[in-house]
Amino acid sequence: MEQVRGASVVIVGGGVTGLSAGWWLARDGVDVLVIEKGMIGWEASGRNGGGCSHHHSPLFMEEQRLWPQMDALLGYPTEFAPSRIRLASSEHQMGLYARALRNAERQGFRSEILDPKQIRELVPLAGDTMIGGFFYHFGGHANPHRTLQGYAWALQDHGGRVMQHCAVTGFRMAGGKVTGVETDRGVIACDQLVIAAGPQTGRLSAMLGHEVPMASARAEMIVTEPLPLMPYGGVDGNGLYGRQTLRGNLAYGGGPHEWLDVLDNSAPAKPATPLMGHIGRRLAELLPRASHARIIRSWAGVIENTPDGRPVIDRLTSPDNVVVATLSSVGFGLSPASGHAIRDLVVDGACSFADISSFKLARFAELEPNWRELQGWQALAAQEALAA
Ligand SMILES: Cc1cc2nc3c(=O)[nH]c(=O)nc-3n(C[C@H](O)[C@H](O)[C@H](O)COP(=O)(O)OP(=O)(O)OC[C@H]3O[C@@H](n4cnc5c(N)ncnc54)[C@H](O)[C@@H]3O)c2cc1C
Repeated sequence: MEQVRGASVVIVGGGVTGLSAGWWLARDGVDVLVIEKGMIGWEASGRNGGGCSHHHSPLFMEEQRLWPQMDALLGYPTEFAPSRIRLASSEHQMGLYARALRNAERQGFRSEILDPKQIRELVPLAGDTMIGGFFYHFGGHANPHRTLQGYAWALQDHGGRVMQHCAVTGFRMAGGKVTGVETDRGVIACDQLVIAAGPQTGRLSAMLGHEVPMASARAEMIVTEPLPLMPYGGVDGNGLYGRQTLRGNLAYGGGPHEWLDVLDNSAPAKPATPLMGHIGRRLAELLPRASHARIIRSWAGVIENTPDGRPVIDRLTSPDNVVVATLSSVGFGLSPASGHAIRDLVVDGACSFADISSFKLARFAELEPNWRELQGWQALAAQEALAA
């Protein structure tokens, strides 16, 4: 078997979180290796809606600061487009959105109410069914594939390495530290370890004695044939998230999400017609002037979720050379900032730009063992067994 050269920092997981962290470390001159069991971005990171507007996160300010600069920083295009529009079909929805936006306002980000006439101008595909909406002077969306590739290329431009088709199966320990990762291509030595393995983060962390409570959910997206470009491509509403691509396709997803068995990451990632049809119907309601457009593609992805919906980004105390990171369904948009935070935890031991104490693993110390059941986050088979 080939001997793979070790690295100062080994990152498990070639999704946006691992690649962004690798890029931040490599641009600092750190010798970094990202290990990916399949192909980079093949999981949620390459299958998401591309939204970058997470004003409930402590990483929000950094997310907003970085996105407009990402093309220049990476040296590759992300197709980031700023601003976002959210449409409402009832007064009740307008009220809910307004309440949520007050949180962004408190952080200095403006939004304004749109009337039906403005909606017709800004979202020509919307037609007359929406009673109003909001224009966010913040946030935006980017192309997940371009972004992911940008991180990977930029990381390698700075001397970092990416190894695909290599599964991490365990860890080597000595003197209370992780000294290497066991893989199906041999043991790879490291001084520090980052586990950023999406839904598999919990399983891998458990090998080091740390429970990261997680539940996986299968989500779907559909893509229509191209339509005339709207002035703004980031339009949400009717329970959907998504964007219009530069080519004009509408790429949209939304609930209901299907809960999977905790360890069953191999559940088929095939779209099921009822969910696809559901998303298609709601897209036609949101953008009635696009209702004639054919659905030309669809896919499913697995979303990682922690019990409180917040990321875990934490440096463990024992072993003390490990950072664990899982983003709980908001990892694409936050990736420029999450990578920065992970870099800080690895190099400096603390995050330099935000208070991320709410991302600590210790917050789950008192979690009820049956938390998935209590939250109704169980796979269908488990729900049926309970009901029987
Ligand atoms: C349909 C859908 C829509 C979404 N929409 C949005 C959105 O609009 N905005 C947003 O911010 N977020 C969105 N998300 C969530 C977002 O995609 C995820 O939070 C983010 O991609 C998580 O990135 P990650 O790198 O942490 O995990 P992942 O993308 O899951 O990557 C983890 C990687 O680790 C690898 N791995 C696992 N185990 C091992 C092992 N043992 N050895 C080596 N490698 C391993 C996996 O193969 C995988 O590539 C969406 C997700 C989905 C599915």
